[in-house]
Amino acid sequence: MDPLSTRYLPLAEARLRDAADPLFSYRSEFFIPQHAGVDCVYLTGNSLGLQPKAASAALQAELDDWQRLGVEGHFAAKNPWMPYHERMTSSLARLTGAQPSEVVAMGSLTANLHFLMASFYRPTASRYKILTEAKAFPSDRYALASQLRWHGFNPDTDLVEIAPNGPGGTHRPEDFEAALDEHGSEIALMLVGGVNYFTGQVFPMERLTAYAQESGVLVGWDLAHAAGNVPLELHAWKVDFAAWCSYKYLNSSPGGVAGIFVHERHHGAETLRLAGWWGQDKTRRFLMEPDFHPIPSAESWQLSNAPVLSMAVHRASLDLFDRADAEHPGGRRAKSLALSAALMGLLDRTAETTGATLEVFTPRADHERGSQVSVRFPGRGKSFFDALTERGVVADWREPDCIRMAPVPLYNSFEDLSRLESILLELLTP
Ligand SMILES: *Cc1c(COP(=O)(O)O)cnc(C)c1O
Repeated sequence: MDPLSTRYLPLAEARLRDAADPLFSYRSEFFIPQHAGVDCVYLTGNSLGLQPKAASAALQAELDDWQRLGVEGHFAAKNPWMPYHERMTSSLARLTGAQPSEVVAMGSLTANLHFLMASFYRPTASRYKILTEAKAFPSDRYALASQLRWHGFNPDTDLVEIAPNGPGGTHRPEDFEAALDEHGSEIALMLVGGVNYFTGQVFPMERLTAYAQESGVLVGWDLAHAAGNVPLELHAWKVDFAAWCSYKYLNSSPGGVAGIFVHERHHGAETLRLAGWWGQDKTRRFLMEPDFHPIPSAESWQLSNAPVLSMAVHRASLDLFDRADAEHPGGRRAKSLALSAALMGLLDRTAETTGATLEVFTPRADHERGSQVSVRFPGRGKSFFDALTERGVVADWREPDCIRMAPVPLYNSFEDLSRLESILLELLTP
């Protein structure tokens, strides 16, 4: 059989699908990295989102105001720097399903997790364990283990890690529930990645939040791979807190400013916070008083004044999300599912026509996945991945045999996937 005659996504068909895609024009709002004079097949928006073309003007505007105004820019800049973080709030609230008072752009992800745990991991002699997923993103595991040690506990016994016993190394929600049934009264905090960084699995956040809270457990979600990727309703789900980075699906620049969510029921002064002046009641901040009066919102978790340059770029990207979502409600999610379904379809077809062994281990059901598709190519090793890279495919390699690919709705196209299919057929046809 000639593999090329049975392609899943021929170029002509891919171009028709792009022509019918209401979000296709957004691709031209981004810089697409080049390879040998043509667009790369960029599939790592889950790791570092691409640069919006509007980013440099947004950044330059703040540099110009700094040049022109010096310190006066805090009040006199076109977008005054003093309340600059407020420019992100409504977009972040919309993207995470939060009340505006529940979110703030600040800091960086792992540091924010520690600040949030200072408030929401308050172990007692009888309730001190932390529940998480095994094979969590390493930074999260380091953070959780160090929190346990910081409070005098032992990660070997006090970090309850749920093994990935589902198909293809995914996690079964019922295993979290069983652990809560067994250890619930000893668990102080459950902190899990809302979308697993490795498998791309979307956890049933609402269900697990409710289940854990019934046992008196506080619940936080790491949304690094969820923010800007999958629908979130953090307020309605009654999540206690959450944190995310914004340089992945939210395209805010390498190491760009992150964000947090704290449910409004925790905004009172009785919640203990590690405090800094940017969390101080805005009407009193410059009174330079000794006592801390927290802003009754997530903003009170801010410690330092805002990184304006990073936030300028974040805002430029959020503008694209706001515009796309206003023009085409639900369109990003629909296209994300269509692209990832096409990616899984072409992988299946490639295996069928070439006889190559490969295994998609991201869950197939729509509600259990976002943009990312994770696939194993057993026995092929890194040289196979390098051959993809040499042909202009930018994907992500995890030893020993896993490739993660995330076609994202604002800048990836069906043509990208058709070109990927050609390259896979070239490399895998015996
Ligand atoms: C990307 C990612 C991080 C990265 O942490 P930083 O503090 O932004 O460097 C942490 N946790 C998870 C789950 C991630 O996916």
